Amino acid sequence: MLSDLSFDEIKLYVKRLGLPEFRGEQIFDAIYSGKTISEISNLPNAIKDIIAVDYPKYNIEHIFESKDGTKKYIVKYGDGNIVECVLMKYKYGYTLCVSTQVGCRMGCKFCASTLHGLARNLTAGEILGQVLLVNRELGGSRKNRMITNVVLMGSGEPLDNFDNVTKFIDLLSAGRGLNISQRNISLSTCGLVPQIYKLMEKDYNISLTISLHATTDEKRKEIMPIANRYSISQIIKACKDYYQKTGRRIYFEYTLIKNANDTMADVKMLASLLKGFNCHVNIIPLNTVKERSLKGTSRLEAYKFCDLLKENGLSATVRRTMGGDIAGACGQLRNSLLDNKV
Ligand code: SAH
Repeated sequence: MLSDLSFDEIKLYVKRLGLPEFRGEQIFDAIYSGKTISEISNLPNAIKDIIAVDYPKYNIEHIFESKDGTKKYIVKYGDGNIVECVLMKYKYGYTLCVSTQVGCRMGCKFCASTLHGLARNLTAGEILGQVLLVNRELGGSRKNRMITNVVLMGSGEPLDNFDNVTKFIDLLSAGRGLNISQRNISLSTCGLVPQIYKLMEKDYNISLTISLHATTDEKRKEIMPIANRYSISQIIKACKDYYQKTGRRIYFEYTLIKNANDTMADVKMLASLLKGFNCHVNIIPLNTVKERSLKGTSRLEAYKFCDLLKENGLSATVRRTMGGDIAGACGQLRNSLLDNKV
């Protein structure tokens, strides 16, 4: 698919078709402006017929809008698969949370994205498609970028789809494309340690976020199967190496689950695990997933937990919950259009 290709690769593609170079620029501009092939006005039909098989086939199938202004987009791909992405408006601009896989195979006990396992990986161009379609829906184009920040925190485990995800980061931050600064891109992972090391080798300027959610391996194994493969100490060691290599501060996500990981012992344990490390803890009270029995800690308790972490020397904040009423909050994204009730 053409949105998988960089500008130079598209130039090569048109050259191979025997077309002049400017046709490549036109095709690239159309893709980055989120146009369908029939909406391209400056290409003759003869050329459109040739490129039609390779031209991206994705569209926004539906939009849900939250009371708080957050929007959830259902994006549909050529093979009928759908994913969700979520747009949040902040003072500094728009942040889009993209999905990297249709479903997920990590099996975390609190998350809706993994309920039906992994359907398939998304390609780089399909992940990019979410950004291009939403950018267009906001009135933007290639040259008029409306989205300033992108977080890889939708459904899927980004590091379980490493090659496509890194190619996506390359495309997203390319000067000729939407030119989104790597500093404004965050990748969240449940902690695939070898892939964290592989990511380091890429020398990106992106932020790395780790979904930690527990303070001992024993407890982590109860809610996150990946904990059977990698220990918390291996993850933290990888994070320290990542920080050393890139100079980028690491973020830890800590989802508060009632009576499971929200005790004073957890505060102490977390503080001792992260002591002296330049990182930040994002606390998220668990969002409801109707198939799951786990309950979230109240916001009031979350603020208390946060204060205690700070008293114990950590940098921490409670994350604002956005889009909860449209099942668009953390952990609520899924690959079914029918299931948009919390
Ligand atoms: N697979 C990646 C990317 C998903 S990011 C990862 O695990 O980091 C989505 C974030 O929401 C993760 O931190 C995830 O653990 C968290 N999350 C999942 N279910 C949640 C829920 N029900 N409530 C709050 N956060 C949840």
